[in-house]
Amino acid sequence: MFKHVEPFPGDPILTLNEQFGADPRPNKVNLSIGVYLNEAGKMPAMRAVLAAETALAADLGTRPYLPMEGNAAYRKAVSALTFGDAVPSERIAVAQTLGGSGALKVGGDFIARYFPQAAVWVSDPTWDNHHSIFQGSGLKVKKYRYFNPATGLVDFMGMLNALETVPAGDVVLLHACCHNPTGADLDAQQWREVAALVKRRGLLPFFDMAYQGFGQGVDEDAFPIRHFAAQGIPLFAATSFSKNFSLYGERCGSLSVVCADAQQADNVLGQLKATIRRNYSNPPTHGARIIARVLGDAALRADWRAELDGMRLRVAAMRKGLYDALRERMPQGDFEYLVRQTGMFSYTGLTAQEVESMRVESAVYLVGSGRLCIAALTQATIAPAADAMARVLKR
Ligand code: PMP
Repeated sequence: MFKHVEPFPGDPILTLNEQFGADPRPNKVNLSIGVYLNEAGKMPAMRAVLAAETALAADLGTRPYLPMEGNAAYRKAVSALTFGDAVPSERIAVAQTLGGSGALKVGGDFIARYFPQAAVWVSDPTWDNHHSIFQGSGLKVKKYRYFNPATGLVDFMGMLNALETVPAGDVVLLHACCHNPTGADLDAQQWREVAALVKRRGLLPFFDMAYQGFGQGVDEDAFPIRHFAAQGIPLFAATSFSKNFSLYGERCGSLSVVCADAQQADNVLGQLKATIRRNYSNPPTHGARIIARVLGDAALRADWRAELDGMRLRVAAMRKGLYDALRERMPQGDFEYLVRQTGMFSYTGLTAQEVESMRVESAVYLVGSGRLCIAALTQATIAPAADAMARVLKR
């Protein structure tokens, strides 16, 4: 019956992680993952999350199904965190989703139903799952130019030129901050230019914000979404709280759709609910209760933001640390890209072969594309990582 089912080749990043786990070398360093680790090399449990969870434990109550669109307090708090006061909340349809991935999937299914002719344009390169999720919804996925390998930064003219060719009504996926995998972000002025282009050409932006707070700050990172919304541009926004609450396995995210008026937002929310019902019926309770509690309490919210600021600054310090260490080993090398990129990742420009050599010879693991997780570096691993990089770059 199942003879025709081919083996799953596995996810390249997850497979690499398994390989790392099985590597017996004691000095191994894993920079291939997509998670934030603290200075001790551990995934943190955030203070505000623990405090909220402790309070909830005293009052667990029953666990009925949530409505299809999720926990009301969570949706309200998340909407404020994403949009600030850029647009009246009654014009935004907001659904709690299973992480950022769930938001992309629900959005993809909604687009396939209501904009069946639209292709989804993603940056080249992008998070691999963007391709899989949108294709899985039956949509055509195309790429727009984004990255300049020569500088390690955004090829902004190339991006604008590419977006000029996108047909009106097509969807453009934009990383709001901390571009995965490159770490190359637009600045505020560039976002304004993209917003003007998107508005003039009638494109439909779909923001993906999986790293809010890891770029310049919680509000700064949401700037592009808020700016587009304030310009009256209808848009989708997927958010994830996996990283910024360190709640990966709780699957907390949201999908927001900014509409022209409250009536449209009501209708869109209704159809998002229908999409969710068809997929998994309703989202889980626990993570959303934690986040709603943290964001709904001034003291806990302030503490969460302070701790997140600390995480962001730690990542920035690791960028600078790796930059300094590489400059020391290769004074002629150009590592400027490291300190100009933002967020958890950096595209190093290392080839697949160089990455493989680093793994085999030095037990330092990067993704084959050359993506390095800055957020997994610690003071102790900067030197071995820089040694391994310098060794292959000097060949
Ligand atoms: N978008 C991007 C760009 C990501 O990097 C990720 C995951 N790291 C996601 C979405 C999905 O987030 P989640 O794990 O919350 O599903």
